[in-house]
Amino acid sequence: MRKSIQIRVGKVTIGGGAPIRVQSMTKTDTEDWKATLAQIKELAQAGCEIIRVAAPTKNVLPSFEKIVEKSPIPVIADIHYDWRLAVEAAKLGAAGLRINPGNIGEEWKLERVIEAAREAEIPIRIGVNSGSLPKEILEKHGKASAEAMVETALQHIKFFEKRGFRNIKVSLKASDVSRTVQAYRKIAPLIPYPLHVGITEAGTFLTGTVKSSIGIGILLAEGIGDTIRVSLAAPPIYEVKVGWEILKALGLRRRGVELIACPTCGRLEVDLLPIVDVIERRLEGLDIPLKVAVMGCVVNGPGEAKEADIGLACGRGVGIIFEKGKLVERVEEGEMVEKFVKRVFSLARRLKNEKNP
Ligand code: SF4
Repeated sequence: MRKSIQIRVGKVTIGGGAPIRVQSMTKTDTEDWKATLAQIKELAQAGCEIIRVAAPTKNVLPSFEKIVEKSPIPVIADIHYDWRLAVEAAKLGAAGLRINPGNIGEEWKLERVIEAAREAEIPIRIGVNSGSLPKEILEKHGKASAEAMVETALQHIKFFEKRGFRNIKVSLKASDVSRTVQAYRKIAPLIPYPLHVGITEAGTFLTGTVKSSIGIGILLAEGIGDTIRVSLAAPPIYEVKVGWEILKALGLRRRGVELIACPTCGRLEVDLLPIVDVIERRLEGLDIPLKVAVMGCVVNGPGEAKEADIGLACGRGVGIIFEKGKLVERVEEGEMVEKFVKRVFSLARRLKNEKNP
């Protein structure tokens, strides 16, 4: 595991041994503070720990101030081009700034942003995107390669360090997995700062989930990455859910229910998919880490169901419930879901009480 220095975005620590954080970005019009705040609350409920909000013009600043004040999680201002917006956002209480220094322009403008962040004691994310590398670096490398992205980031970092500003995290995003992975691998041993990992413009729900899971997954498995954002052309709640699933699949963090469902096959004895669907929705709000298995037959189902904290093996007209490997109840098909969900909640309550007696 690569160990970076630790920074703080509001109350949330990043890097330096802190848990890997899940972030997302609001997709509402920032000027509509009510809609933006409602989205943030929904995302926070789903496990989003830091939220980024676009601040494209000065018209959003009054709304941004309200959002910052009322948000349950730290708000990062996403700024492109206009240094004055970054300075204002810092003054209005942003917990961090995300800029692409290349887009801010002259050095003095960047210096003003650094000063504002220093004064507000907030970090800046240096976000390098393959689509907006400086001309001279592109000419030198011939294309927006991983090397070109790393060189760009190192140049920016040096600029910040020269001004004594080290409260930074870094991202190097390309829309393809291999370039992104290469870029992060290259920069990881060269800098002490936390890395924000993600695949930019990854795509629709399906392609974006696959690309992000592979790209972020490879890096996290190699110990690279301190905070993640899954980018999807889909409601942001899915970004948060997919982010958590990546962390859970790698065993890096646990949160809520990890639902294991069999893929179904010719041995299937019930209409399993709607059953899994209902169970997944009913268990959504559970905040205690639990492995829950729902299997489609009594041939192979019990094995998997026994290994989970609680499992249901569905047979023809009947279901068998296992808790911690022991058969605890046989239930009729009609009441299977109800009884199973009830047992999951009561197990969760027991485990919670054991944890905090
Ligand atoms: S648990 Fe049963 S139904 Fe499900 S995939 Fe395995 S064998 Fe098929």
